[in-house]
Amino acid sequence: MTLRVGLIGFPVEHSLSPVFQQVALDALGIPARYELWPTPPAELQQRVASLRAPSTVGANVTVPHKEAVAQLVDELAPRARRVGAVNTVIVRGQRLLGDNTDAPGFLFPLRERGLPLADFRVTLLGAGGAARAVIVALLDQGCRHLTIANRTPERARQLVAEFGIGHALTLGPELLTVLGETDLLVNATSLGWDGRASPIPLDWLGQLPPHAFVYDLTYRETPLLATARQLGRAALDGLEMLVAQGAESFRLWFEREPPFDLMLRAAQEARAHRFGTIG
Ligand code: NAP
Repeated sequence: MTLRVGLIGFPVEHSLSPVFQQVALDALGIPARYELWPTPPAELQQRVASLRAPSTVGANVTVPHKEAVAQLVDELAPRARRVGAVNTVIVRGQRLLGDNTDAPGFLFPLRERGLPLADFRVTLLGAGGAARAVIVALLDQGCRHLTIANRTPERARQLVAEFGIGHALTLGPELLTVLGETDLLVNATSLGWDGRASPIPLDWLGQLPPHAFVYDLTYRETPLLATARQLGRAALDGLEMLVAQGAESFRLWFEREPPFDLMLRAAQEARAHRFGTIG
């Protein structure tokens, strides 16, 4: 029997996940296909129920269903409960377990680079689902110096209240002073995918200390990253996070160690094909 795993979202056609997940399945000789499961909201319940089929091992979940799927599974892993969203469903017999691998995915490249997150002053742009995973990851690393800046400040304030950490700002000039004392700037807004938009004016990046690190969860070149690099700051896009969250999903589905380097290379090639090379 060919096993099945796939991506639930709407739309999903742009996703790089099938490329690097299939490379891992094939490399380990696992008889499974990673499929795209485009699912409009009205069909979500039926799609999640269909995961109970014997050939299905699990699923990834992406926009706009991460929060809704958390309500549809039988059980939530503690980190999925804390993030409030599910990006991975694991089929255990007839039961569906919801987990969230965005938090470890976010951390992976930072830990690889040996960044002392517990001591870092972090400025997080955005207050949506990805920002929630970033906060959970940073809290678990002992990070206590956090500013959350969001277009809608009320959402940032809600996160500060819920997680009991940091302070909330808008994306306005009040952020300038904070940038001067930022070790890690994270873009978790949805701006940057067009290769043009930026959540903050680009010249503000000049305020960052010379050692500061700019991490954009978007996995293409963004003006934020290009400017950070031009100004001599370290810059990291979201591709390693994407592959690391996928590798963690793979471990949960198959209880095997996936070939991370192979997956990353496949993702880099697929991205270059789509957006051109980076850096
Ligand atoms: P989301 O829940 O929809 O949140 C979107 C965030 O972007 C909100 O904070 C929103 O602010 C802000 N925003 C949207 N339009 C804006 C605008 N015009 N100006 C300023 N801020 C704006 O999305 P998400 O799931 O958190 O995803 C955020 C980003 O992270 C996406 O680009 C996604 O692709 C990326 N991501 C990457 C990975 C990875 O593996 N690399 C994983 C997860 C997510 P308001 O609250 O004011 O609306």
